[in-house]
Amino acid sequence: MAYSYDEGASYALDGLSLEIGRGQRVALMGANGSGKSTFFLCCTGICKPQRGALYLDGEPVAYDKKSLLRLRSRVGIVFQDPDNQLFSASVYQEISFGPLNLGLSEETVRQEVEAVIDRLEIAPFRHKPTHALSGGQKKRVSIADILVMHPDLILLDEPTAALDPKHTKIVNHLIDEMTAAGITVVLSTHDVDFAYGWADQVVLFHQGRVLTQGPPQQVLRSSQALALTNLEPPAVVGLFERLCRRGVLDPSLPCPRDMDQLEDYLVGRDD
Ligand code: ADP
Ligand code: MG
Repeated sequence: MAYSYDEGASYALDGLSLEIGRGQRVALMGANGSGKSTFFLCCTGICKPQRGALYLDGEPVAYDKKSLLRLRSRVGIVFQDPDNQLFSASVYQEISFGPLNLGLSEETVRQEVEAVIDRLEIAPFRHKPTHALSGGQKKRVSIADILVMHPDLILLDEPTAALDPKHTKIVNHLIDEMTAAGITVVLSTHDVDFAYGWADQVVLFHQGRVLTQGPPQQVLRSSQALALTNLEPPAVVGLFERLCRRGVLDPSLPCPRDMDQLEDYLVGRDD
């Protein structure tokens, strides 16, 4: 697909082709301006590609009001900046807006909202106005906004970009829970260590199209692709390769998935 913000003077997406399988954990990576956020906006019908089309379950997406409402009940987006997402005065109003819009009864909505407030531990700040929340609290409310809709697919645009380590951990834990609940998760991130450990598929974006995609052990070891996309190799890969070069480890070993596996290699070596 192709998408231009300026009537064809330049293209934010330019020949992008990407298929996402149900239940996958997909990390989109790539330099600033490579088209990740624009791709997310296309996936929710907020931007309509000028060329090509979006397919959901093999069906092309339509852009009338009813079809878009249906699309957005199945595909949820958590924006990078919560201030672009949160617009209701109170936390409760904010989270209940989507389900009320779907026409659910007030009682059903109340139960759904309470469940998600409980699950995301939002209760301590539920009575604050959304504009008075901290960055981490806003992020949790914007995730609650989406989870309360029970989507099949969640798109998270740089979900931990502005968060401290504690909130990063909370959000990463929520992301793991989403996958465990069978939700397909596609996120964009610059965190190679997280993507390496978490993703089934890493997709490298470059100038509005897919440069390469595949399992993290393959994509995040390609020095050429990493250099083109301004990324460094994951710490565990860098250390593994150094230990191989120094003859400490056998380069024919599979690249370790995480530090624990690398430690096992090292401990096993002494056996
Ligand atoms: P990424 O999320 O990978 O950083 P974006 O999708 O935000 O990339 O940007 C892709 C291209 O589209 C960039 O060249 C960017 O300047 C341009 N772009 C993004 N948003 C807008 C907008 N609202 N108006 C005009 N150009 C935009
Ligand atoms: Mg972006």
